Amino acid sequence: MDNHLKIFNSLSGKKEDFEPQAPPYVGMYVCGPTVYGDAHLGHARPAITFDTVFRYLKHTGYKVRYVSNITDVGHLEHDADEGEDKIAKKARLESLEPMEIAQYYTNRYHEDMRRLNVLRPSIEPHASGHIMEQIKMAEEILENGFAYEINGSVYFDVVKYNEKHDYGKLSGRKLEEMISNTRELSGQDEKRNPADFALWKKAEPVHIMRWESPWSDGFPGWHLECSAMGRKYLGESFDIHGGGMDLKFPHHESEIAQSVAATGREPVRYWMHNNMITLNGQKMGKSLGNAVSLRQFYSGEHPLLEQAYDPITIRFFILQAHYRSTLDFSNEALQAADKGLRKLFAVFQTLEQIEAGDTSGFDVAGFEKKCYAAMDDDFNTPVLIAHLFDAVKAVNAAKDGHISLSSTDIENLKRLFNIFVFEILGLVNTQESKHESFDKIIQLLIDIRQEARKNKNFTLSDKIRDELKASGVILKDGKEGTSWTLA
Ligand code: ZN
Repeated sequence: MDNHLKIFNSLSGKKEDFEPQAPPYVGMYVCGPTVYGDAHLGHARPAITFDTVFRYLKHTGYKVRYVSNITDVGHLEHDADEGEDKIAKKARLESLEPMEIAQYYTNRYHEDMRRLNVLRPSIEPHASGHIMEQIKMAEEILENGFAYEINGSVYFDVVKYNEKHDYGKLSGRKLEEMISNTRELSGQDEKRNPADFALWKKAEPVHIMRWESPWSDGFPGWHLECSAMGRKYLGESFDIHGGGMDLKFPHHESEIAQSVAATGREPVRYWMHNNMITLNGQKMGKSLGNAVSLRQFYSGEHPLLEQAYDPITIRFFILQAHYRSTLDFSNEALQAADKGLRKLFAVFQTLEQIEAGDTSGFDVAGFEKKCYAAMDDDFNTPVLIAHLFDAVKAVNAAKDGHISLSSTDIENLKRLFNIFVFEILGLVNTQESKHESFDKIIQLLIDIRQEARKNKNFTLSDKIRDELKASGVILKDGKEGTSWTLA
């Protein structure tokens, strides 16, 4: 295991040497989706970013327990404390059981992620399955004096917490500014302070997702689930916590406060945040009318899209930018990414074709070092990709006879391209695998036709030949069997 990995820690605002608390084990928690609608482009970036982190850590020898939650309760329409639960609202409007909605969108989320070649986490806990743990944590925070109960709801006392600790250390906010920036307390607001947030909410009579608790029939606040589930599966203090930059405040700031208030321990050693995606230079959002779902990207069915996009092209495009940089999606940019990706995949075929020479015209060992150095520098995938393209150039030059590559060079290049392109960046040559499936299906039809002819079922054998012809596949019977060509 190489110990040169550096990670930018949002908590210190600096790149730090990565030193897990109990190597080779690494605990990593990433905030997952709220499952009340299809995943959009914004979901793809954290998923791909932390999938690549997961892949690289595993590749360098760490044993990673990667936990990513499914939020199926407690994420409210307006903010963490008010409004209606998003899933419950959809359930009420469509006369469905809330868990039907959560399951439906969880299944679709998994399918969307599979197509992006995102590996499944080691554990994928559901918030609704961890109500006991959340109640226990709220009780501990109450016991330690950092929360108060009022009318069956429990709120985190941010002011009290901030006297002893620092509420704002992750987001860089100051409590006084947070308070003066928040709207005045309304008459119905039962919180002592507008910055306080709910640990437990008493359910209104119409609210269908509710559980018993010492305080009321109700449901947990959104921030609490990640603190409770991270602690359950990774311990009171673990190595990496990731998520989108939009979650830094209030979600992650509140996670830190809850954990410190309950256990007295700093819960996370390295906080990692991916930057946001814009579309044609604009922020994305439902209210802005430009939130494009991943499925719409895959099918091309959206007024803002000129064509369908291969999910792997989307993955490649996201990895072409560093995860802490902003990234703007547009048709032109995606089309350019697709071209680049085809060029990258073509290198595998070229490597099979070139003839080995006696001398080395390319420093393969240096190339390998640079690739690892890029990933060790806070997972710098765009720099890695630039090195890969330098090597592609060298391979093409060897094919054209401008430089020579030894057989060892060629073998090493094949090995390194496999590691970095497929294993670490998680790219898949979907076009190639489509070709392979196509060939197999045609061969299968030829075999079935052969059998039909043996059984004198000429209706079926003619049907196969004619239908294939209509689809542009011409069968040719010869002495050696049947071959095919495209019309
Ligand atoms: Zn979370």
